[in-house]
Amino acid sequence: MKQYEFQASSRRLLELMIHSVYTKPEVFLRELISNASDAIDKRLYLGLTDDSVRLRREDAEIRLTLDKPNRCLIISDNGIGMNEQELQDNLGVIAQSGSQRFREALEAEQSTAAELIGQFGVGFYSAFLVADRVTVLSRREGESRAFRWSSDGAEGYTIEPAERAEVGTDVILHIRPDGKEADRYSRYVREYPIYKLVRQYSDYIRFPIRMLMPQPKIKEGSSPEHPEFEEEFVLETFNTMTPIWQRPKGELKRKDYDEYYQAHFNEPVAPLRVVTVSAEGAVRFKALLFIPGAAPRDYRTDAFAPGLELYASGVKVMDRCAALLPEEFAFVRGIVDSPDLSLNLSRELVQQDRQVQLIAGSLEKKIRAVLDRMLREDRKSYEKLWRMFGLDIKIAALDNYAAKKEQLQELLLFATSAGLGMCTLAEYVGRMKPDQKYIYYAVGPSARRIEQLPQLELLKDRGYEILYCLDRTDQLVADMFRDYAGKPFRSAADGDLGLEGARPKPDKAWEKTFEFVKDCLGDKVTEVTASSRLKDHPVCLSAGKGISFDMERYFTATSPQMGMRAKRILELNVAHPAIGALERARQQDPERAKKYAQILYNQACMIAGLPIEDPSGYTDLLCSLW
Ligand code: ADP
Repeated sequence: MKQYEFQASSRRLLELMIHSVYTKPEVFLRELISNASDAIDKRLYLGLTDDSVRLRREDAEIRLTLDKPNRCLIISDNGIGMNEQELQDNLGVIAQSGSQRFREALEAEQSTAAELIGQFGVGFYSAFLVADRVTVLSRREGESRAFRWSSDGAEGYTIEPAERAEVGTDVILHIRPDGKEADRYSRYVREYPIYKLVRQYSDYIRFPIRMLMPQPKIKEGSSPEHPEFEEEFVLETFNTMTPIWQRPKGELKRKDYDEYYQAHFNEPVAPLRVVTVSAEGAVRFKALLFIPGAAPRDYRTDAFAPGLELYASGVKVMDRCAALLPEEFAFVRGIVDSPDLSLNLSRELVQQDRQVQLIAGSLEKKIRAVLDRMLREDRKSYEKLWRMFGLDIKIAALDNYAAKKEQLQELLLFATSAGLGMCTLAEYVGRMKPDQKYIYYAVGPSARRIEQLPQLELLKDRGYEILYCLDRTDQLVADMFRDYAGKPFRSAADGDLGLEGARPKPDKAWEKTFEFVKDCLGDKVTEVTASSRLKDHPVCLSAGKGISFDMERYFTATSPQMGMRAKRILELNVAHPAIGALERARQQDPERAKKYAQILYNQACMIAGLPIEDPSGYTDLLCSLW
């Protein structure tokens, strides 16, 4: 017998599992049955390409056994099994991926701990919620030797050679004694409570979950008038077995789907939408899709694997088939089952499979239609979805030079000057003023900051709505889409807003002022001009053609060595008293006028969100005027 120690981090996790009080320790059964079902899936899948695998679909079974004298519950399956190395790798190291994060969450949120178990891939260890010793007897497909893994969950575990007649696994739980706090672990060695748990949590498992159940029987030889009864044990199948996506929609309530989603995908929050698809066209398939109600924990980390579960005639081919979902809908979870898929479908080639492509195309359309409808009929939910996954939709819309613009443009939402809610491009265009030619957008870190931009004064004055680009992708959408419904996008930072009937050019006399200011500022600005859009502010900067201020900020932050600098065109509002004062000073006291020019330039930089090159020089300048 070989002895192994758990790693320190695993030990700590197990301690928590064993010594804490959980709200729902019974989830252990769901977890172990689900492992058994996965193991059967793996063996059946292997059997598709390997004739030596002798498990037929109809012989697959999960068997529960009560060993009352020894206070044991045994969960057996005829799945793929584990060899010595796999026992060590899979059960000896706690959830390589998730253990650290799981422990943190567990320590932080004790009360919901049991629900967290599945999410972190530590399902097997939930056995220690109810057992003080767990023994796993397993024989791997293709191997004749079996092994016994055993642990009390404390220091470590042992592995030794053993006998098992058939391929498969028994997980033997030595159920804990009942504690003082009415833990009542004894119910896990009684038939009826186990039956109820299977019905509650594992009804949709596609393989039969069976157990011997006691049934009263008239004792042989007892008189018909005064019958005596004895118990007889009959093998019963507990679960209905029809996977939820094969059941008629009418039979199920939303609650059933929600529960299934939460248990099956280990998601703590109910989905926003449940979508069922039953297709009979060029390729027949059934799909059950869920739009999540919360972003998965590992979303946008490397650990997140997008994709749908794929079944070929009831045999699970893949857990996460990414080829079934376009990038923009990578957040969708669900299942696809098709009788038309080749049973030899290899995971490596799934992407090129014609049938898979057909299914993917049809699902893409379906999801788009569902979102479109949600956007129109249930705005609140859609905005929630947008906050969680909008970025992915935008990124996909930009991908490949906005190749998917047509398909995705109606799904995009923007913050806007029209109010707190978000708006679609169609809504924006629908609200455009009769004389408005462009879709105006402004870039900034928050709606508040954008609202303060003096560049927007004239647009606001005309009652034009402005889209707020609050992240880089918003701006890229505006830049790369170029137009929507025939209306071009136009940046509010653009020196020329393309307004008809804009203010007439100021008197030639102002040219001198502009020249003077340009001389004062030297290379800091490329040009000084009259502004056609300022109203209450004296100055602003525009970037002209080339990179924007936002891009400059981005490059300064990411690659300062490039020294990327946007052009700075200083716009002066000649109707503003400050510019009047500058002009008077130019004529009467040029030294003072120079100071005004510097101050106004610095103010324009601040408003544009650009750093002031010499802050103390700037404050000295201001003070010198007192
Ligand atoms: P998860 O199932 O989320 O991967 P678990 O802790 O539940 O995490 O199980 C760890 C691994 O142990 C599984 O991925 C699987 O490889 C293996 N395993 C668990 N139970 C069985 C079983 N009944 N038959 C075969 N392998 C199993």
